[in-house]
Amino acid sequence: MLPPVLSISVPYTGRFAPSPSGPLHLGSLVAALGSWLDARANSGRWLLRIEDLDTPRNQPGAEAAILASLQAHGLDWDGAIERQSARLPLYHDALAHLRKQDHVYPCACTRRDIGDAGGRYPGTCRAGLPDGRQARAWRLACPAGTVQWVAREDVICTEDVAAVVGDFVLQRADRIVAYQLAVVVDDGAQGVTDVVRGRDLRSSTGRQRLLQDLLQLPAPRYLHLPLALGRDGQKLSKQNLAPALQDNAASANLTKALIALGQPLPLPAAPECAQLSRDALLDWAIAHWQPARLPATDEPMPVSP
Ligand code: GLU
Repeated sequence: MLPPVLSISVPYTGRFAPSPSGPLHLGSLVAALGSWLDARANSGRWLLRIEDLDTPRNQPGAEAAILASLQAHGLDWDGAIERQSARLPLYHDALAHLRKQDHVYPCACTRRDIGDAGGRYPGTCRAGLPDGRQARAWRLACPAGTVQWVAREDVICTEDVAAVVGDFVLQRADRIVAYQLAVVVDDGAQGVTDVVRGRDLRSSTGRQRLLQDLLQLPAPRYLHLPLALGRDGQKLSKQNLAPALQDNAASANLTKALIALGQPLPLPAAPECAQLSRDALLDWAIAHWQPARLPATDEPMPVSP
């Protein structure tokens, strides 16, 4: 059965969910701006959630730098900032619920075991831990069959998660709750109606839809944004050391992000737009936001201001 197609006229709640593993860069600005514009153009709320569960990757000072960059670029959020580190009981409740329903099982496999099996988890521990092995992680026993979701491009997407990904981890060997579970619990608890985020996360959407169904949470709509690539053709990311946003060049950065999002500019040339005030640029961008213009391919963008 198809999930109910939510009308865009329902009260809209969007969110931006950065991990504090480094400062924002132009690529993350593209995602933040696309999600903010979509919320504001739909008179919606835009929540800010700091996804700080992966403690080994958190960088001291990164959260403060992210907040300062969002403020400097005029991307204001609604309500209190939520931090995943303060929400652990919710994730453990969800895990307990899934465990009670027999949807999860302990797994003893190491990365190397799984690598030896070719990458996709082959279900080694699904029928019980092998003799003499200790539980490390908890995995979802993926039900067979496809899940569906509504993409804002007005298409219904489907994925057979069991076939494509296999039984995925919900709690890691280091006991950290996995991103897939935390994000679903939070989007549900925060009443998020529209998830607007980078295309790199599209491959997670099937897993998240599956968990929403198992936890009886409503399905948001999904809109995936183009990725900003560096000159090397790789996605700009903290891992490949994309330079931090320069907060004193907000209009120039926002102009680049609008170009990456395929949106019209108020003036024909980017350098002229960069001279406009930040708020004039943002007001124009809200009034002219057209998700239909999002480029189908990812493009390199200049990384220097
Ligand atoms: N925390 C994730 C990231 O920084 C984003 C998660 C999401 O938008 O679903 O890439």
